[in-house]
Amino acid sequence: MHLHNNLSKNILSWYDNNQRVLPWRVSKKSTKKLYYRVLSEFMLQQTQVKTVIPYFKVFLDNFPTLESLSLSNETRVLKLWEGLGYYRRARNLLATSKILINEHNSKLPKNLIDIKKLPGIGDYTGNALRAFIHNHPTIAIDGNVKRVFSRSLNKNANKIDFNKLIEINKKNLFRTKRNSDFVEALMEFGALICKPKKPKCFDCNIKNMCKYFKSDKKIKQIKTLKIKMKNYNIFCYIDKLKNKIALTKKHNLGFLDKFYLPSMEESFVNKKIKNWNFHSNFKNSISNKKLNINLYYKFVLKKPLQHQWFSLKKNNEFIPSFTKRIFKQILKIK
Ligand code: SF4
Repeated sequence: MHLHNNLSKNILSWYDNNQRVLPWRVSKKSTKKLYYRVLSEFMLQQTQVKTVIPYFKVFLDNFPTLESLSLSNETRVLKLWEGLGYYRRARNLLATSKILINEHNSKLPKNLIDIKKLPGIGDYTGNALRAFIHNHPTIAIDGNVKRVFSRSLNKNANKIDFNKLIEINKKNLFRTKRNSDFVEALMEFGALICKPKKPKCFDCNIKNMCKYFKSDKKIKQIKTLKIKMKNYNIFCYIDKLKNKIALTKKHNLGFLDKFYLPSMEESFVNKKIKNWNFHSNFKNSISNKKLNINLYYKFVLKKPLQHQWFSLKKNNEFIPSFTKRIFKQILKIK
């Protein structure tokens, strides 16, 4: 499977005229490059650019350098991360910053195996960082890249071995030697031009080499797997007089086991539960889980075992924004 010889050249020339101004895109010689790229790559995992920008700026205000971040602690980093979700990323970011400063002399390792030993860095982020920092000829394969390559070949992405495709075409893909820019250009091109639903084919400067554009039999979009919804009952113990909620780390939501949350159980939807007041039913996404939630509450004076009291205003622990939202809802009850 051969990609067109001029594909990288044309995508780069589009990028040179159309790239967005993003705060982590600093000059290649900038001393801030490593920190800005590590920070932004962690934040951009599963999150859109427009959501990330304000968080990126807040982090720079609080930690202007990689070293200042590495000297911080989990509570502070999680507080600043609040609302961005997928909190494991924040903990991995902090751990990675400490390792880079203390074990790698503030430098990114050269080879992918060592880069992937850093917490929270897999193939995608590892390859992206390797290209951004070392200008290594590699491609970070994400949904955007898969779409651009599979459309240009008019083949179903499921039927393409992308590592093999890149290997076969590496001479042409990397001939500009602008490897860092090309990784970024491909992602940007996939996000802004070769979009998932309505590709802007008539504005596209690779349309003349695109088999999807030229073909009468265009490949169909790949259907993404739907994440299965899980049913949960959530139980909130509230001290109404002191405006406090009892939270626990023994809450049955394994992937958030380090955080304080209300008690909960995975259950069939069942609105009536003895001794509990039903508040509402709603859908929520926490990390990559979709939850169908029945929310229950009771007003108490004593906290249950293995719980601690928390108020919205004063606490040193990080509380996920989801917990804060439901607490505020229950406090509105007269
Ligand atoms: S012509 Fe259309 S399908 Fe082909 S690469 Fe450009 S935007 Fe994507």
